[in-house]
Amino acid sequence: MNNKTILIVDDTIANLDILMELLDEYDVIDATNGKDALEILNTEHIDLILLDIMMPEMDGYEVCRRIKSQDETKHIPIIFITAKADEESISKAYDVGGSDYIRKPFFPKELYARIKKELRLEELISELKHLSFIDPLTQLYNRRFFIDSSKTVLEIAKREETPLSLMMIDIDKFKNVNDTYGHQVGDEVLKLLAKTMKSRQRKSDMSCRYGGEEFVILLPKTSITKAEAVAKELRENVQKSYFEMSAQKKIAVTISIGVSTVNIENEINIEKALKRADDALYEAKESGRNCVKVKIK
Ligand code: GH3
Ligand code: MG
Ligand code: MG
Repeated sequence: MNNKTILIVDDTIANLDILMELLDEYDVIDATNGKDALEILNTEHIDLILLDIMMPEMDGYEVCRRIKSQDETKHIPIIFITAKADEESISKAYDVGGSDYIRKPFFPKELYARIKKELRLEELISELKHLSFIDPLTQLYNRRFFIDSSKTVLEIAKREETPLSLMMIDIDKFKNVNDTYGHQVGDEVLKLLAKTMKSRQRKSDMSCRYGGEEFVILLPKTSITKAEAVAKELRENVQKSYFEMSAQKKIAVTISIGVSTVNIENEINIEKALKRADDALYEAKESGRNCVKVKIK
């Protein structure tokens, strides 16, 4: 069995039946008009769409345009299947965002092969996307993705007039861990810290590996007071969570945290707040490590 879901949109029931049979190894959902298809896309996870062009009310081109204009659905590959065979119709199918085009009557094996190709391509694209924004060691967001998406997060905060805080975290004396136990154990500690960071956080919080042993968490809809409390809890949790190398050996690490908040009225990006959090982190290090410091201005 294949757990990919294909949406077939065709106003001719007989065509739907043929396709359903051909694609019985996939989960198939069918719709007989564009409006229903768009509604299905709102609620179901769809991996590929087979789309007829000539349909009453909304034709396939328009359905495709709408799917391609929405962030949630624009990545879904669309294969047009249609009786239209003129050059104009074919080129229009690609213009509106179709990935492929196949004429009726079609060779079942050809259609099947094209579907397989599109699904594989989409899988590869999403793997690449994942690789480009996730840090492979900790599975947290990487710095580039963090900087990019912080812009959107700040825009939302401005629009909704909600606070946006952040914290910068650095492992204390991490060089000692590497020097004493080796780099590999150091890596395991980084992974464990990432897990601890993620374990308590809200869905909207965004954790990122900012540098080697430096992390940033962006906290939407969070006041500086709340952010400080979250930071203190995290510091405590890390202090409590030992990394077990073996039954005998346990490593305890501590972290220092600098907390700040974005002045959403005056600041156009998060850079200044990051700098303040970094200053606060420096202060935490200076005052003996394993603590949380806050800098508002
Ligand atoms: P401080 O309390 O002042 O932060 O001391 P520190 O030793 O943590 O700081 P320092 O900046 O001197 O050292 C950071 C260390 O982090 C050195 C570097 O080898 C280690 N490190 C950075 N990235 C990685 C990584 O991916 N894996 C491992 N194992 N170590 C890393
Ligand atoms: Mg450090
Ligand atoms: Mg450091």
